[in-house]
Amino acid sequence: MKISGAVFSRWSSLAAGVALACLLAAHGAGAQRLLIRGNVVTPEGVLPNAWLDVRDGRIVHIQEDRPDVPGAPALVTGDLIFPGFIDLHNHPQFNIFPRWTPPHTFPDRYAWRDWDPYREKIEIPYAKLTAGGANFCDIDEYAEVKALIGGTTSILGFAWNVPDKPIPSCIKGLVRNLGLYSGFYGPEPGHERIVNSIGILPRDMNANTAADIARGIREGRIDLLAIHIAEGLPADPESAEELDMLEAHGLLTAHTALIHAVGLSPSQLARVHRAGASIVWSPHSNFVLYGQTANVDAAFREGVTISLAPDWSPTGSDNMLDEIKYAATVSRDKLDGLFSDRQLVEMASGVPAQVARIADKVGTLEPGMLADFFLVHPKAGASANPYMALVNGNITNIEMVVIGGVPVYGAPEMLRTLDVKTEPLEVCGAQRALNLDALPDGPFDQAQARLRTRMKAVGSELAPLAECVE
Ligand SMILES: [Zn+2]
Repeated sequence: MKISGAVFSRWSSLAAGVALACLLAAHGAGAQRLLIRGNVVTPEGVLPNAWLDVRDGRIVHIQEDRPDVPGAPALVTGDLIFPGFIDLHNHPQFNIFPRWTPPHTFPDRYAWRDWDPYREKIEIPYAKLTAGGANFCDIDEYAEVKALIGGTTSILGFAWNVPDKPIPSCIKGLVRNLGLYSGFYGPEPGHERIVNSIGILPRDMNANTAADIARGIREGRIDLLAIHIAEGLPADPESAEELDMLEAHGLLTAHTALIHAVGLSPSQLARVHRAGASIVWSPHSNFVLYGQTANVDAAFREGVTISLAPDWSPTGSDNMLDEIKYAATVSRDKLDGLFSDRQLVEMASGVPAQVARIADKVGTLEPGMLADFFLVHPKAGASANPYMALVNGNITNIEMVVIGGVPVYGAPEMLRTLDVKTEPLEVCGAQRALNLDALPDGPFDQAQARLRTRMKAVGSELAPLAECVE
């Protein structure tokens, strides 16, 4: 995996043509300069002992020699540096709830959503907790930290359900929220180009909304519609009709990502491919709820683009790295090794960036891209293949996460080296810390304590940040 100097010079020369956009306040910190050395994982291979030169939230150079910037905070590591994960499907606000293990599987999503034991355990406490927009920022901070420690730097799925009130400004902080505020399109929310939808049946989306979205796609105002389609078994009538309904509304397009697609047949997947649409695969949650998952084997053979995302933590994975690890096991044990570790990692980074039309900003590491990445210290004896080293590790191997050039989470001594004011946090026995100035809702300890009390008051309890696995 050694990359020659020629690759370095090509990469450095790319930087010359890069115009720096001005920094967006919430996802960067002024004219901050940051130098980090590590083994940078790029689509062309690993750039060993390379310096990432970060300025104003962007990577300006990747080079062999230490950039000559006296006084800039600098960190020398032997870590692997990966682009941050882009989670195209989650329900982060529900990730405050503990794992829910239903006693049986269901034919489709409607079956469990309407089922009283589910409603009593999650839906009703959630409604009480969030009535009128209550507790939004505490939940936001907790859910984003939960995603962050698994390497996520962009996430889709936060919802703001009080249309007559503006979204609280905490949404601007920490992890990029692709549906509400990513920092890509100016300093204020309300300019995002991605629409996230629960489904196409009238109970989830009315005809006027569907027509508005179709128009938005046609007129180039919407880059992506992510929508739950066929979240149920192939024989289930409700999920079977959803693809037809989507198409009838003019919404089966190259700007559509079908979430779950568990019930789609090979011929339906061929239709998805012909339309240029993609799917989002969430195997962990699918197996728990339905006993099976999307036919990714057929999807892959049909050429359908596949992203990978956790769905939510009550029945899925706690974070992106755990979902990749779960998918790697499914690939090995059930799919005859269909996906390599590299493919799975890219299905959680570069691929969703392409799908969401943000690949010019995030999803790979090269000069000109936003500085969204994480550092991995592989465990002893790990493979020399960086993707295998990542997939065989766990969240305690993630040593630091940077979003928009700001180190937001990491090993305390690394954050201190970069002049970050920290709040300590233990993650599965590893000493970690959060960047106190980057937290959107104040100290994490306090947000967590408030949530604990309020969840108890609605008859639930706060989920752990992570289920710690070997
Ligand atoms: Zn979902």
